[in-house]
Amino acid sequence: MSSSGAEPSIFSRIVAREIPATIVAETDRIIAFNDIHPQAPVHIVITTKTQEYRNVVELAAADPALLAELVAVARQVADERTGGEFRLVFNTGPSAGQTVFHVHAHLMGGQLKEGSLGSH
Ligand code: AMP
Repeated sequence: MSSSGAEPSIFSRIVAREIPATIVAETDRIIAFNDIHPQAPVHIVITTKTQEYRNVVELAAADPALLAELVAVARQVADERTGGEFRLVFNTGPSAGQTVFHVHAHLMGGQLKEGSLGSH
C-alpha cells in the first residue's frame, strides 16, 4: 500500500527543509540525519526522499535498487562515524516500535553492547 497521497510525513518535511535536522548524508533519493532522540552514541535515521513506501517490506518489493542505495548510504555514514561497524534496524509496524510510516532505517553504532538489540 502506498502513502503517497497522505500529508507530508515528518521526514518529508525534513527533506523539504521545512523543519530542521542535522543532515549527515544525502543523495538524489536518500537522506540521512541525526535522530532527535538518540538511543546510541551514534544514531542516524536513513530514509528515502519519497514517502511512497511505508516500510522496508514495501520498499524491497517495489524498488530493491532504492533499498540497496539506502544500505550503501548506511555503509558510507558508518565508515565516516563508527569505524564501519553498525546496527541497521527497520522497525516495521506499531508493535515493533514504528512510529513514522515512511520507510527508514536506524543506523546505530559506537560501543553497543554485545547480545542486545537495544542500547541497554
Ligand atoms: P520509528 O519509531 O522506527 O518509526 O522511528 C522514528 C524515529 O524518528 C524515532 O527514533 C524518532 O526519534 C525520530 N524522529 C522523529 N522526529 C524527528 C525529527 N524531527 N528529527 C530527527 N529524528 C526524528
